[in-house]
Amino acid sequence: MTGNNFSTIYSTERYPWHAALWSALERQLDRLPHALLLRGRPGLGKHAFAVQLAQALLCDQPQSGVACGTCHGCMLFIVGNHPDFSGIGLIEDAKIIAIDQIRALSDFLSLRPHTARHKVVLISPAEAMNLNAANSLLKLLEEPPLGSILLLVTNHPARLPATVRSRCSHLLFRSPARAVGLAWLQTRAAVPDQPENLLEIAGGAPLLAESLGQEGIAEKHIKLYQDLDALGRGRDEPVACAARWKGLGTRLCLGWLYGFVADLIKGHLAGQQAAVTHLSEQKNKYKISELYGFIDIIHEYYRQLGSTLDELLILEDILIRWTRLRRLQ
Ligand SMILES: [Zn+2]
Repeated sequence: MTGNNFSTIYSTERYPWHAALWSALERQLDRLPHALLLRGRPGLGKHAFAVQLAQALLCDQPQSGVACGTCHGCMLFIVGNHPDFSGIGLIEDAKIIAIDQIRALSDFLSLRPHTARHKVVLISPAEAMNLNAANSLLKLLEEPPLGSILLLVTNHPARLPATVRSRCSHLLFRSPARAVGLAWLQTRAAVPDQPENLLEIAGGAPLLAESLGQEGIAEKHIKLYQDLDALGRGRDEPVACAARWKGLGTRLCLGWLYGFVADLIKGHLAGQQAAVTHLSEQKNKYKISELYGFIDIIHEYYRQLGSTLDELLILEDILIRWTRLRRLQ
């Protein structure tokens, strides 16, 4: 493996909500498009899916699209040393995937496969590529070396250049039906408390729900939700609330709020049947144009976190806007 920075530690478990995607891919493992973009919200197991797919592509004797786990190729892959695999990710504390990491791929892909039928590259999280890195990748996507398969994983496809997106086949991961997610959470070794709430907060993404439960973040998120509700009803003050949110962590709060408003927008677009009971109560209370404006502001502030802008002022402004959002209706 030429990737210098990438762990292939992953679950060999195939998640039930991946079944349809697998059955679509298994039939065409030998004639996959040269580039796949795996996209969808966090917590759906896209990265694990990509690693399992990479292993299946490098396995000497895959059975119905599943890596055997015992052949030479699988052993090399499992120990992180397969010469025909390159994993590109964030190096330590880096926030971006840099051009040098992508440039190295050209050399890697220009050589014929050592032992496998393919050369497989996995880039995750793909949206972390800066513009130079993405442009460098574009050259490979435009003239893919024979036998190469590139797997790009992203929670935020819109952050990738359109030129990169358009040269990949897209695999869209969706949250499973609520019952499927709940049933899966119930099978975990440590079944989290309040699985229904966790799944709701996670937008239906089971793995995110599980990790929220482990990190105790769920309790914080429930608090945030209750705060928004109280603000909307005029039972709380934005300034006091902002101080509490700052205590919980501005980044965590803004990230959650962004996801919450995005779900409200999706609820609008879907018309009915928001996956989540709270949301279905909330979704008709706001004009969608208001929600679009609001989410842009949250995003802009989120981007500026860590700059000279005062976090408390940011939170106050956002929460005041939230209360006005409701009055406009
Ligand atoms: Zn194998």
